[in-house]
Amino acid sequence: MSKTFAVIGDPIDHSLSPNIHSAAFRELNLDCSYIAYRIQKGELEEGVESLKKIKIDGFNVTIPHKVEMMKYLDKLDESCSIIGAVNTVTNDNGVLKGYNTDMDGFLDPFKKRNLSVKDLKVLLLGAGGAARAIVAGFAKEHAQSITIANRTLENANNIAKFSNKIGLNANTIKLEEVADTAKNYDVVVNATSIGLKNEPSPISLDGINSKTIVYDIVYMPINTDFLKKAKEKGAIIIYGYEMLLGQATRAFEIWHGMEAPYNAMKKALLGGV
Ligand code: NDP
Repeated sequence: MSKTFAVIGDPIDHSLSPNIHSAAFRELNLDCSYIAYRIQKGELEEGVESLKKIKIDGFNVTIPHKVEMMKYLDKLDESCSIIGAVNTVTNDNGVLKGYNTDMDGFLDPFKKRNLSVKDLKVLLLGAGGAARAIVAGFAKEHAQSITIANRTLENANNIAKFSNKIGLNANTIKLEEVADTAKNYDVVVNATSIGLKNEPSPISLDGINSKTIVYDIVYMPINTDFLKKAKEKGAIIIYGYEMLLGQATRAFEIWHGMEAPYNAMKKALLGGV
């Protein structure tokens, strides 16, 4: 029987998820479809009810519903309860179960490169929704410590509290105080939205070298100024699209119980680049 999946959020018309998942269905000849469904803030409950009515098989959740969606779940996977946000839902005859695949999606590119983050010192720029999943990922993989730098210090302090609670030693600074200290870290991650509009790198990367891992979770454009500057220093680069693919392949595997066709999904995302 044909199966239907969706991504819900607002805005949703530029979501890349329908393309990525549809490419996987074509590659594996699955009788499935995947649609983008706009649900505005304040209309989530009705939106979820209508998805249940059409017997949706599963859906992804994006901005602004990742936290509020927790209220409408019947069951929580551990990934979801630890992070306190959901991005993937299964529907088993009206019973909704939530997962968070952003954490494993974030870690996926490290695994693909055989890079261990155990005992590494991390500098994380940003303290929004994505930062929580990233902190949970570094805690899971036993990084040594994390410095969270953010424009609004209060938001950084909240994420640091969460980090310390789950066992990853965290401290905070204001984004502008990072100055030229990136060189003191093994891993530098941009999880602010700076770069989306082609803005210059939020920090200086002076002094970093070929051992520094520099990861930008912004995926559009693929080559942000932050990554360009890191490349000039010969650093190890991880692209935001890799996290996007990582979370999508995990979601695919949860819904379909089979290995996701990574290369076909990557090609759909990058247009064969
Ligand atoms: P949020 O809106 O929750 O957080 C945004 C973060 O960016 C906050 O830390 C905010 O700081 C900071 N920020 C925004 N504008 C500025 C600015 N002008 N100067 C300094 N700091 C700024 O977003 P998310 O955490 O959900 O997502 C962050 C980015 O990551 C987005 O670009 C998103 O597209 C990308 N992303 C990529 C994923 C992937 O799979 N590759 C997955 C999820 C997100 P403040 O607290 O001060 O407001």
